[in-house]
Amino acid sequence: METNTYVLKCPYCGAKKEVGFSTDTWTNVPYYFWSDARIESSRWYDPAYTQQCPACGKFFTLPRRNTLKIIEKECYETGQLPLQTLKQAITELAGDEVAEPRARLEAWWAFNALYKDTDDIPAKELAYYKDNMQWLIDFHTPRATRFSHLLFELHRLLGHKDVCEQMIESLTYDEYIRQRKIYCTENKMKFYDDEETLKRRYEKEIKDLKFALTQPLKPYIKDEVKPYDK
Ligand SMILES: [Zn+2]
Repeated sequence: METNTYVLKCPYCGAKKEVGFSTDTWTNVPYYFWSDARIESSRWYDPAYTQQCPACGKFFTLPRRNTLKIIEKECYETGQLPLQTLKQAITELAGDEVAEPRARLEAWWAFNALYKDTDDIPAKELAYYKDNMQWLIDFHTPRATRFSHLLFELHRLLGHKDVCEQMIESLTYDEYIRQRKIYCTENKMKFYDDEETLKRRYEKEIKDLKFALTQPLKPYIKDEVKPYDK
């Protein structure tokens, strides 16, 4: 089995909804990893954060996964909503500290996916997109405890090159190590890398960030595994 099923319950009317998720990790299937952190794969399923109840039509955010009921059943429906519906969700979920930023992140991703091959974007749509990115920056900046690739990409796409350059400049080697140690502690991982590996990783990180600034103001593919037949 490649997928399994979560059973969600609408917090408003109690209706049940089934959404699928891959039992395999995304790194084991063909995928594109975009600079906006979106994983694109026709072989990997993960429930969307923002779900719409099939019965009452209200929006709610995915509860913590360890609280969800799992049934052994294949399911390829993730509940992902189109951009225009996500805009409606943002309006309805406004003020919710968890649900609103998630819905806005998904709206950003939906826009990026929808317009990835074209610059022919309606002015109103583009204005909404930019306002949404600024909202995400304003929300996440005071909450960021370390270098944030999300904030870097949001600033980059908004053309804030000076902010991006400042972010790169403040990520010194010592700072990189300090943040990595915090990350390992928070995620209960062992900090074990030897200095040579750390230096190499740090240099690659800086090189990747500087490369990002040479790219057009659109998300780009950072990493890919080309489709193949298993
Ligand atoms: Zn409902």
